[in-house]
Amino acid sequence: MKSIVSPIHALNESLNNNNFYIKRDDLLPFSFGGNKYKKAILYFDYFKENNIKSVITVGSDASNHCRIIANMAKQRNIECHIIFTKQSNKKPFNTKIIKNLEAIIHYVNPEDLTAYKNTLINQLEKKHKNPYYLPSGGHGVLGTKAYHLTYNEIMKQFKTMNIELDYIFFASGTGTTEAGLRVGNLLNNNIVTIHSISVVRLKEEGINIIRETMNDYLKYIKKSTVKIGKNIDFHDNYLKGGYTKYDDTIKKTIADVVALEGIMLDPVYTAKAYYGMKEIVKLHNINNKNILFIHTGGAPIYFDFLND
Ligand SMILES: *Cc1c(COP(=O)(O)O)cnc(C)c1O
Repeated sequence: MKSIVSPIHALNESLNNNNFYIKRDDLLPFSFGGNKYKKAILYFDYFKENNIKSVITVGSDASNHCRIIANMAKQRNIECHIIFTKQSNKKPFNTKIIKNLEAIIHYVNPEDLTAYKNTLINQLEKKHKNPYYLPSGGHGVLGTKAYHLTYNEIMKQFKTMNIELDYIFFASGTGTTEAGLRVGNLLNNNIVTIHSISVVRLKEEGINIIRETMNDYLKYIKKSTVKIGKNIDFHDNYLKGGYTKYDDTIKKTIADVVALEGIMLDPVYTAKAYYGMKEIVKLHNINNKNILFIHTGGAPIYFDFLND
């Protein structure tokens, strides 16, 4: 299945006389869209080609990735097992959606994950269900490919608009989206400056994983001789206490962007990235440039936020 091109449009935001644009991957027309949808399309194409009859994946109980996988598995009649390694007190909307899609949910402690999923894979193999284990967030070469393709799509869209893009900002979690965008830029002479805002990892670990993911993917596309430069602008200063935690600056960012743009951001990913983008623009004194923010989705988490 071919992915549909998501729109890019200008924002009203005018900090430091920059032109801000937004890539609306949140508007992709499947299960509230987002970056996990783009990765999932490529994995499910692979499942079809390889006669995969069951999928197992993992995440927190608010995982956008798990929602997309449950929905696409339902659509394509593939048995779906979702392993939640984090259970919150309130049921997040993504859990409710996954339940509604009748995926089989397993709650497992993170330290028991490896043993548990190996047993599950064995059981499914015995039942001739040809299982595929998809790591959290859709991490893997096909996930990276989704955002390599997106990088090329973005450059084409700006070319059509006759605008030279200077910067890209977005939220980085497993680093799959980031690795794909950075490989695209690397193969395009790094003409754009890419800043990622971490929502989970500290700098050293984050950069190591991104390099590793880029190298795995370069090998996969038979470009392993291409060298990744030293510079990776990965920011861990906007974690706000860690994954899923947030403070008043994030609440204010969500309120400001809804008021100014009519666009909803979630407190776990996109609002942190948006806040980080504005801080970096001020800190680096970036002005009169063309800046793209990628909206990577996460609408159900926005609704959890309203319920908090
Ligand atoms: C998963 C997710 C991200 C992070 O993407 P990675 O490829 O895991 O780095 C960003 N934004 C949203 C809304 C997400 O669900």
